Amino acid sequence: MNPFSMKEQDMKFGTKAIHAGVQPDPTTGAIMTPIYQTSTYVQESPGVNKGYGYARGKNPTRDALQANIAALENGKHCVCFSSGVAATDAVLKLLSPGDEVITGDDLYGGTYRLFTKIYEKFGIKFHFIDLTNADNVKQYINSNTKLIWAETPTNPTMQIIDIEAVSTIAKAHNIIMVADNTFASPYLQNPLDLGADIVMHSVTKYLGGHSDVVMGALITNDEKIHEQLYFILNSSGANPGPMDSFLVLRGIKTLHLRMQRHCENGKQIAHFLKDHPAIEKVYWPGFPEHPNHEIAKKQMRDFGGMISIVLKDKSVENTYKVASSFKVFSLAESLGGVESLINHPATMTHASIPKAEREKAGVVDNLLRLSVGVEHVDDLIADLQQALA
Ligand SMILES: *Cc1c(COP(=O)(O)O)cnc(C)c1O
Repeated sequence: MNPFSMKEQDMKFGTKAIHAGVQPDPTTGAIMTPIYQTSTYVQESPGVNKGYGYARGKNPTRDALQANIAALENGKHCVCFSSGVAATDAVLKLLSPGDEVITGDDLYGGTYRLFTKIYEKFGIKFHFIDLTNADNVKQYINSNTKLIWAETPTNPTMQIIDIEAVSTIAKAHNIIMVADNTFASPYLQNPLDLGADIVMHSVTKYLGGHSDVVMGALITNDEKIHEQLYFILNSSGANPGPMDSFLVLRGIKTLHLRMQRHCENGKQIAHFLKDHPAIEKVYWPGFPEHPNHEIAKKQMRDFGGMISIVLKDKSVENTYKVASSFKVFSLAESLGGVESLINHPATMTHASIPKAEREKAGVVDNLLRLSVGVEHVDDLIADLQQALA
């Protein structure tokens, strides 16, 4: 069957990744969506145009990418932003002073910083709670509660939050439920299908997949929320550029292949690390003894390539030595790219969270986070072996 005559919602994931939202260029037949590197569009007469007025609001390369990402999340609408943080910022702009937000106690550091350092100043109140038990949410809900923000798996301790259970509570109280799906990617989990109102992605990570773009996305099935988010994008101006949109559109074409390998490598490496004498603890949701393993099995299709380890030796010197002695893994922030990365959350991605808060969430100084790439797993294991020796 010719995929172009097939409805997008009937396509399997790998077909959607390649074809959804993408049409051959109408003027030349180019199979790849061109990079429409333009800031404005010529009008026939004032207000009469081809649907494009000014490129902050709309760009054809970005439109193709948004349609593609929406399809991958089983959503109707997607709005892309200049970064994941800008996408989060746009969601917060749906709120008014006095509103309250319930969120997890293990969050991406930049999300925590945006909430506490920017939005608390504007009169938004945040409750950072243990979301792994959905019922915990109930005692924090009052008439001002407007938003629940759940990241799952969490960064870096890989807690799993039951999206369906949390969104059921949110719906009963008319609260918008947002899922940060960055760690899972749409290949592993689709929060809209589980009842979330908005899915947020740091596109920088698995969707882009090649460590060459910073971008964010918000996906929803709700017309009103979509209109508001688009209004915020156009009014606040955190739009991504056409070149970046093209790079992500290209990156996504192999998302399913990359994710398969991330998951296979992740599984082998998690098991290797679990038995290693230098390691105290391995955080990976695929282990049956992981406290949220059953929920992970229920809402995810596999367990991903993100793993955190706690070293037995608690000294900072040893942690730094291990972190700096890799040959294949690179010591760097970010995740989800083809190349394997190692990160020290306490000084890197989570440095903006106060030490006491951080340690309460398990982000101790001797914790390292691995983003397992798609290199050959034998080389990755050999690298871990020499770095931990
Ligand atoms: C990286 C990240 C973000 C922020 O996205 P940027 O693209 O870096 O702005 C948000 N949430 C999670 C889980 C992330 O890993």
